[in-house]
Amino acid sequence: MKTIASFYIAFIICNTILFSQDSLVEIKNNNDFSFEIRYATTTNFIGEKLYDCEICLLKPQVAEALKEANKYFNQKGYRIKLYDCYRPLDIQKKMWKKVPRPTYVANPYTKGSVHNCGAAIDLTLETLEGCFVDMGTDYDYFGVEAHIDYNNFSEEIIANRNLLSNGLRKFGFQTIRTEWWHFSYKKNKSYPILNSPLPCEN
Ligand SMILES: [Zn+2]
Repeated sequence: MKTIASFYIAFIICNTILFSQDSLVEIKNNNDFSFEIRYATTTNFIGEKLYDCEICLLKPQVAEALKEANKYFNQKGYRIKLYDCYRPLDIQKKMWKKVPRPTYVANPYTKGSVHNCGAAIDLTLETLEGCFVDMGTDYDYFGVEAHIDYNNFSEEIIANRNLLSNGLRKFGFQTIRTEWWHFSYKKNKSYPILNSPLPCEN
């Protein structure tokens, strides 16, 4: 009996740990943030709907940092528009099958993407009135014009990009060279890769 009880307690503890690793919080789809979750539509580089609903899930610490960054942009007359947040590993595999180029899609069979941990966000800005803010290229544009060190743009576009990246860096996010829209929360090293499906209601 004692052995069974020990096993049962160990089972509960392990499950608790697994659950806490998996815990992601939702950024509510209200007026605080603008939502344009592209993988919930066919307007993306795959050309297929990959998500069953528009939802943004993140690790709690990442969500808090993102909310603080959004308040910062609000004071300047902007709000964050979300393109992608947590991405299940199985979706990463679908993307890799279509575009097996590590410059643009993280390899799901090696390290995976920081999106798979719920610690990266693809985003842009819009004004508080909902007007478009020009960043020079569309989201998921695979070319040099999307690189953060490409500067053959108007002063306005360069200022918009600087506003975005400098603002997010203040709240613990890092850029990557090839995608102006991608921000990884810098303290993500201990976060595990996840593959829980998005909790969409049928
Ligand atoms: Zn990204």
